Amino acid sequence: MIIQPKTRGFICTTAHPDGCASQVQRQVEYVQSQPAIEGPRNVLVIGASTGYGLASRVVASFASSANTIGVYFDKAAEGARTASAGWYNSAAFEQAARDAGRKSFSIVGDAFSDEIKTKTIGLIKREFGAVDLVVYSVASPRRTHPKTGETFSSVIKPLGDTYSNKTVNFHTGEVTTASIEPATEDEVRQTVAVMGGEDWQMWIDALQDAGALAAGATTVAYTYIGPEITHAVYREGTIGRAKEDLEATGLRLNEQLSATGGRAFVSVNKALVTQSSSAIPVVPLYISVLYKVMKERGLHEGCIEQMYRLFSERLYGASPAAVDEKGRIRIDDWEMRPEIQAEVARLWAELTTENVYELSDLEGYRREFFQLFGFETSGIDYEAEANPDVAIPNQQ
Ligand code: NAD
Repeated sequence: MIIQPKTRGFICTTAHPDGCASQVQRQVEYVQSQPAIEGPRNVLVIGASTGYGLASRVVASFASSANTIGVYFDKAAEGARTASAGWYNSAAFEQAARDAGRKSFSIVGDAFSDEIKTKTIGLIKREFGAVDLVVYSVASPRRTHPKTGETFSSVIKPLGDTYSNKTVNFHTGEVTTASIEPATEDEVRQTVAVMGGEDWQMWIDALQDAGALAAGATTVAYTYIGPEITHAVYREGTIGRAKEDLEATGLRLNEQLSATGGRAFVSVNKALVTQSSSAIPVVPLYISVLYKVMKERGLHEGCIEQMYRLFSERLYGASPAAVDEKGRIRIDDWEMRPEIQAEVARLWAELTTENVYELSDLEGYRREFFQLFGFETSGIDYEAEANPDVAIPNQQ
């Protein structure tokens, strides 16, 4: 079929298999053009099909020659519906890893469930014996608790007061004011249950109890802080509460794992266009301004550049212990440079619908958004027939 982008609100409901494969190949080639990393041997990535999780998997596999298992929640094509982007990304990744001689497996299902944990641990024991790196990169709007059966939904809201700031419809370029009502206590509780650290802890406990975590293993999860502009809706809002919980879990896990020489980190990553971040009000406009400022200074990074720097300089580099006062790795260091933030704040104050394409890289944001789904990718003929039915090699 001919596959074109179809958007509903801020999501794209179609994905292009060849475009996704090309995006994954670009990540593989970037990593292959960099020095190899003396890193992990057997890696589990939870939330492995898009964004930071996919990039982590590419770095582990192609910079460290690691064997990997990716766990993710994606859908195959069905009837007139294409598969999700993460499905096509993973199919391309599995093929590339296999061609390069790595062991590589996919587990498609709900990472929050006991069933998927048990299945993954069985696979680890059978194929790897144990894993020496666990990357936790799940971003989800919902979670069903495996013990109580309660289903939680996360919301992105401020705490205490209504928050208003500029936001953009990145399809039309219209800059408006978004006003978001504050969250209730129950919404905070549910957001922490979805995006906090409980599931990460459950994974590590289950892996340890089963003897599937190697002595000296490392685990890492991702968080975000960002600038003053987004604090009310992000860091000091519901999602920020969840991230505080995740970071506290990281400190606890670090103690737990240090008994066997292991380590747990939370890495503060840069703001980037991903399916998750495009759903947050205000953030896409901030990212568009940030992209302009960082690109002009030659400091721009995408997911793959961020994850290569995380692995090569921090997790497996000379200074892994370079953490902030709260024990977090700061790979958002370039984003948060005072001169970058001062310029972003200056442009932010002036932004309107009339000047948004001059004062920000909204066009770059929009293009990258469609590239997440395999569109607007050079070398792909979008008028040609494409086969949406792609199988994932090594799906368990
Ligand atoms: P993303 O939406 O690109 O990826 C999320 C991944 O989670 C996908 O692989 C998806 O399949 C998987 N997933 C979702 N629900 C699942 C489930 N129930 N079971 C198994 N897998 C599931 O997200 P992202 O932006 O790469 O975010 C990953 C992490 O990085 C999050 O913790 C996020 O807060 C953090 N982070 C993101 C940014 C950013 O700007 N995007 C910045 C800093 C930190």
